[in-house]
Amino acid sequence: MEIIVQTASKSYPIYIKSNGLDELANVINKNNYTKLLIITDETVGRLHMETLRTAVPDNLDYSVCTVPSGEQAKQMSVFESCLTYALEQGLDRKSCIIAFGGGAVGDLAGFVAASYMRGISFIQVPTTILAHDSAVGGKTAINHPLGKNMIGAFHQPDAVIYHTDFIKTLPDHEVRSGFAEAVKHALIADPKLLDMLMAEIVDLHSITDEQLIHVLQRGMEIKAEVVSVDEKESGLRAILNLGHTLGHVIESSLGYGKTTHGEAVMVGIVFALHVSKEVLGLSFQIHQFEKWVEVLSYKLEIPKNLSFDEAFKGMQRDKKTIAKRPRFVLLEAPGKPVLMEVEEQVLKNIFHTMKK
Ligand code: NAD
Ligand code: ZN
Repeated sequence: MEIIVQTASKSYPIYIKSNGLDELANVINKNNYTKLLIITDETVGRLHMETLRTAVPDNLDYSVCTVPSGEQAKQMSVFESCLTYALEQGLDRKSCIIAFGGGAVGDLAGFVAASYMRGISFIQVPTTILAHDSAVGGKTAINHPLGKNMIGAFHQPDAVIYHTDFIKTLPDHEVRSGFAEAVKHALIADPKLLDMLMAEIVDLHSITDEQLIHVLQRGMEIKAEVVSVDEKESGLRAILNLGHTLGHVIESSLGYGKTTHGEAVMVGIVFALHVSKEVLGLSFQIHQFEKWVEVLSYKLEIPKNLSFDEAFKGMQRDKKTIAKRPRFVLLEAPGKPVLMEVEEQVLKNIFHTMKK
């Protein structure tokens, strides 16, 4: 399966196959890179580096930079050490960085590529489900002690190569995290996909290769469509934020590492569905949806120690907020998202109902 992403700055292919790495040599040969630097994390490196090595053409010089797993990869110090390593290895303007891992490695390696010599090529080889979201759109970033993703750049890859066999080693909570973003993509743009998911996926362990490829493909197509209209996030791109206004607040209130991003977003999605019903009269079986995601082992709880006042302050810090009034992505119907302000009292009532 191949998708072409078209942005104002560039167009590039996404390949999604169980043996997607078969495409790597073609992409590398087509672009005539002088050298490769593979950036991966400890976990992915340990589990899958040998498979990646076999896919790199024999005649090309490459080196590997291994960074800590998870969000730790996005530290300033790690970013600097990757740049140092790239300089030591003699990468030049025609070299290419391979981001081999989940969204964290993708964000870090993409930003290394965006800044090294004012920008060199990179290829995304994502290994998580969530990365179907992060690998499309060209946002790259690292964290600052004062805020997540605060330092970064827009930099589009030369290709995204999903070798879906890598996903088989992903732990359950990471599967749930990524699948939540796929459900989000279905809700904002593809009601048919949502129906299919709700009818067919009853256990995330038994998801077939075919279903996984379909979910990743549609998720990436939807994201690519939105991004192609709004590459630099001036308007439409905000609809990708469904579930994230409350989701981010829950993620930070529990503390990063206590829940995954997508699991927190799933609570935010359910919250946004209830708000949509209240203010827009959304006609949708929310109760059935809640039951379904609970069967998939999502916990739809707002943390006990998170008060509404605290949550509201958190929502006011959201980047969609204007003049302290939080704005939400809501649904008029599945596939019809709108961005709008919501009265504090409405949010408060639904927050308290969900907390019970
Ligand atoms: P991640 O990259 O931290 O990976 C999660 C964990 O799974 C890590 O411990 C990793 O080592 C491990 N892992 C990865 N692949 C594995 C595999 N195949 N088998 C076993 N373990 C594996 O997390 P993520 O959820 O993929 O991405 C989250 C990051 O993505 C966040 O930093 C977020 O800010 C970023 N993000 C960026 C964008 C964007 O547009 N750039 C969008 C969404 C999220
Ligand atoms: Zn997200």
